[in-house]
Amino acid sequence: MYCPFCTATETKVIDSRLVADGHQIRRRRECIACLERFTTFEMAELVMPRIIKRDGSREPYHEEKLRSGLMRALEKRPVSVEQTEKAINRLKSKLRATGEREVSSEMLGNLIMEQLKKLDKVAYVRFASVYRSFEDIREFGEEIARLGDDN
Ligand SMILES: [Zn+2]
Repeated sequence: MYCPFCTATETKVIDSRLVADGHQIRRRRECIACLERFTTFEMAELVMPRIIKRDGSREPYHEEKLRSGLMRALEKRPVSVEQTEKAINRLKSKLRATGEREVSSEMLGNLIMEQLKKLDKVAYVRFASVYRSFEDIREFGEEIARLGDDN
């Protein structure tokens, strides 16, 4: 990053420590050009990426929308609310871990399917059949057959 004093780009870290219960890193830096010292704070980016829809439009990540989609697929299935919430958290971590500011709705859909697959196969097939809008019954059959394989 630029030195705030002389805008040189080369700075070196002279001290680094965890603050805010480990959620932030405080770094003491020294500019190689002007030798001024300054402090930076680093923390994980918690903003969720925006979703690029199939028609190219963007929409913000909606957790409620995601949750209701999962709940619909999991209706009357033996999966607890706690398990569902954990799946949502895993999904969010994966989304953040992409480091992208925008991800395709297709990628989001795949992440949802990945989580559902672990939670409940019936829910997975329900979601996949709606989400992927299978072109014909053969394709659907293949998807179900694949479920058997990796179990
Ligand atoms: Zn400087």
